Amino acid sequence: MRLVFFGPPGAGKGTHARILTEKYQIRQLATGDILRQHIKDQTVLGKKAKDIIERGELVPDALVNAMMSDEIRKSGLEKGFILDGYPRTVGQADALGEFLKDEGSSLDGVINFRTPESILVDRLSGRRVCSKCGANFHIRNIPSKKEGVCDLCSGELIQRKDDMPETVQHRLETYEKQTKPLIEYYEQKGLLYSVAGEKDIPELQNELKELFERLNIKV
Ligand code: AMP
Repeated sequence: MRLVFFGPPGAGKGTHARILTEKYQIRQLATGDILRQHIKDQTVLGKKAKDIIERGELVPDALVNAMMSDEIRKSGLEKGFILDGYPRTVGQADALGEFLKDEGSSLDGVINFRTPESILVDRLSGRRVCSKCGANFHIRNIPSKKEGVCDLCSGELIQRKDDMPETVQHRLETYEKQTKPLIEYYEQKGLLYSVAGEKDIPELQNELKELFERLNIKV
């Protein structure tokens, strides 16, 4: 299974990728998580990316492409992966295509999580993440058992800086301008499959399972 999970921030890509990777023992490569780890570790890349991420803009293609080809190679192409949040520009999509071709590989599909903007804003502004393990919660939709505490590791739940209202709006504009053109890009390659990102989690998991069966995507 070599998939791209595509869609605006808050569409549910990360939540569904996490469930599937556990189920099928493949890797979720979430660009945002990897970049946030670089920031935590204060690497050269992390230092370059911090302010850009906090402003809700995109980290330059060259940096993200180098980071992701490295991550894909490390995870082992034959084991399969879900790319979550990559590619986000036409330049990144071209680079990914070239990289996979050079490795004798290709994508099985790009799953487009179509989601109305009002739902995105609600999901992002109510999202809380664990400061220790990165698990995602939502104050109403996916509440933790104990308020402010992660169910998985007891870490403190916090709101991401870029989930604050002003930045959310900017991230959605960035998506419209720089990322949305990839819908047509992958449609033309015959790789695009759309699902309704607003569905609840079990319902959409079933739909994804059926889609993989229909497309004969091997896990
Ligand atoms: P996410 O966790 O996917 O919402 O990503 C958080 C932030 O990381 C984004 O708003 C961007 O600033 C940065 N980022 C994530 N993925 C990419 C990418 N493919 N290209 C450039 N910047 C990215």
